[in-house]
Amino acid sequence: MEKQVVDRAQQAFLSGRSRPLGFRLQQLRALHRLITEREADIVAALKQDLNRSRFDTPLFELIGLENEIRLAESSLSEWAAPRPVKKNLVTASDDVYVQAEPLGVVLIIGAWNYPWALTLQPLIGAIAAGNGAVVKPSELSSHSSDLLKELLPQYLDKEMYQVVTGGIPESQELLRQRFDHIFYTGNSIVGKIVMEAAARHLTPVTLELGGKSPCYIDKNCDLSVACRRITWGKFVNCGQTCIAPDYILCEPGIQQRVIEGIQQTLMEFFTDNPKSSPDYGRIINRRHFDRIVGLMEGCTVALGGQTDSSECYIAPTVLTDVSPHVRLMQEEIFGPVLPIVNVSSIDEAIHFINRREKPLALYVFSSDKKVIKRMLSETSSGGVTVNDVIMHYTVTSLPFGGVGNSGMGRYHGKHTFDQLSHHRAYLIKSLAMESLNQARYPPMSPARLKRA
Ligand code: NAD
Repeated sequence: MEKQVVDRAQQAFLSGRSRPLGFRLQQLRALHRLITEREADIVAALKQDLNRSRFDTPLFELIGLENEIRLAESSLSEWAAPRPVKKNLVTASDDVYVQAEPLGVVLIIGAWNYPWALTLQPLIGAIAAGNGAVVKPSELSSHSSDLLKELLPQYLDKEMYQVVTGGIPESQELLRQRFDHIFYTGNSIVGKIVMEAAARHLTPVTLELGGKSPCYIDKNCDLSVACRRITWGKFVNCGQTCIAPDYILCEPGIQQRVIEGIQQTLMEFFTDNPKSSPDYGRIINRRHFDRIVGLMEGCTVALGGQTDSSECYIAPTVLTDVSPHVRLMQEEIFGPVLPIVNVSSIDEAIHFINRREKPLALYVFSSDKKVIKRMLSETSSGGVTVNDVIMHYTVTSLPFGGVGNSGMGRYHGKHTFDQLSHHRAYLIKSLAMESLNQARYPPMSPARLKRA
């Protein structure tokens, strides 16, 4: 089944109809219509998948997609235009340029936490770059996946862009097929499986992975502002955000004030009963619920800690004086649990971060420019936001992606177009002025070489 789907997408691509910019623009507009006309259905699917608030779905998925489509529509002719480059002496009278061309058929494998953004955002780039695509949404967000499978063929070219639903067997069958690029979003363990499968066909990959994104709070900082911003970024989507701050690093002297700041903000956001707040989500399934509850074992709860397995509910939770050696600090939490790890200084914080895998995001809160400068210049991460969290993701001109264990490749805006294009090198000569070429033709002699 999967093979037939891929064959059909390849046939469609080979027909050449995705190459003209007019076709790409028409498909982008159709995708825009899908998002706007079917917004209520998308919101309802996410309510079922993640108890997502009806306000968060437009804010965190749909508006971003609309902006990406608008940008691609208005910039496509510029992105796809030949880009002249510097010439050398012997090519001075030739045309020398780089032009993006489509790669072929792209496999997009998405994760469940933002199931629309994580599949459609790469798809926007694939369409803009003139590719065909097979989209494999996550089986965990099944209401969204089923809806995507139903809607995409109603709006887009059915052969060129296809959706395959299902779980690991379907993903693995797709990975056995030959694609021209694989764009995978999910955890690092499966990222390695994807890369291994891609290697068999020498298929290039983009791996958008996760990890533990640190958040350093300096004592020289407006803690109430810092805590409000951190609380928002950590607990939105019930902590299931790849660039959510995973843990806080701060000096013991400010730990208590950080807890109070987060407590006050949680009251503002979700009242004293987050379980009944329409703005507070749920864990995607029982397996992840059990995993997160297991990670909390043995830790000191400062805030929250209540759970209800029947609803996959975990209260917004803050844990204090967390040892760097517990399991919670070895793997990505991906849930509404925020550990605070004490460090004695910025040196120790930098050392702590650098001893671990390179994270997808890094956050630093400080009013001291020197502290910020040190934190940025002495660490590495996919991206950074200073004095806020998550917001670098929203700037489409910034490349979004990981480094090391948090992934490879980048996307958003023109970066997606570039990532999913081949940047072909062109040298166009005429058949005239043959005499200029004499210097490179044999027979050679020391005297000729000297002249040249
Ligand atoms: P998931 O379990 O939904 O897996 C993602 C996709 O991989 C699914 O389509 C699934 O079918 C497929 N898959 C799972 N196991 C497979 C296997 N053994 N072989 C082949 N395919 C397989 O999602 P997840 O991995 O739980 O997602 C959460 C992770 O994704 C977190 O680590 C998070 O940080 C990361 N993430 C990263 C980004 C980013 O942009 N960098 C965005 C969202 C999530």
